[in-house]
Amino acid sequence: MDKRTFIKDMGLIGAGVLVGGKSFALKKTDYLPTAPFKPDSLGYDFNALEPTIDTETMRIHYTKHYQAYIDNLNKAIVANPAYANQDILSILKNVKPTESALRNNAGGYYNHSLFWKWLSPKPTQPSSQLSSAINTSFGSLDNFKKEFAKAATGVFGSGWAWLVVDNKQLKIVSTPNQDNPLMSFTEAKGTPILGLDVWEHAYYLKHQNKRPEYIEAFWNVVNWDLVSKDYAKLK
Ligand code: MN
Repeated sequence: MDKRTFIKDMGLIGAGVLVGGKSFALKKTDYLPTAPFKPDSLGYDFNALEPTIDTETMRIHYTKHYQAYIDNLNKAIVANPAYANQDILSILKNVKPTESALRNNAGGYYNHSLFWKWLSPKPTQPSSQLSSAINTSFGSLDNFKKEFAKAATGVFGSGWAWLVVDNKQLKIVSTPNQDNPLMSFTEAKGTPILGLDVWEHAYYLKHQNKRPEYIEAFWNVVNWDLVSKDYAKLK
């Protein structure tokens, strides 16, 4: 894709996100893309999260890894036409554990599309509503961060740590590879309102093998405004 097409597509997707004030697919009333999938907008420059997340990591993560999930998702859908007219939430819900290409790449597309939005160069704080829910479920924000870090550190190999809303309760869960708690077969259940990519490609250039250092730095760039908004929709 040349630069102009890329920017044009980003613009269209951006407009799609804004139409009707809908945000990216968390529930059926949100912006729900169908195939062929395209990269969702990053919303900031590759260098905007420096020094927490370095420019080169963001550039490679977004232009190479994310794009590869999207390309492979579109190919997997061509090979499984039953999914051609399903929106991304339906695909996540209906995909079978044995449909590996679809499972890995639908997860990869969806998880990253949200991950970009859960990061922000602008420091924000949880809303008072979300703060009190965090206090109720985890004791304090600091303790929540400790428990989340424990889940993220504990992912063996590649995967994600999540803050989810499950039956109106906040929970911390994790999934391997590109699985998402919205998939019907995952042990983890709930709707993610925050997720952290702990694949090495997300941190290795800057932090090498020190995943806990990356997890600690992550709190500097969490988009608490969005997490708070999504919590309010699901509680
Ligand atoms: Mn990733």
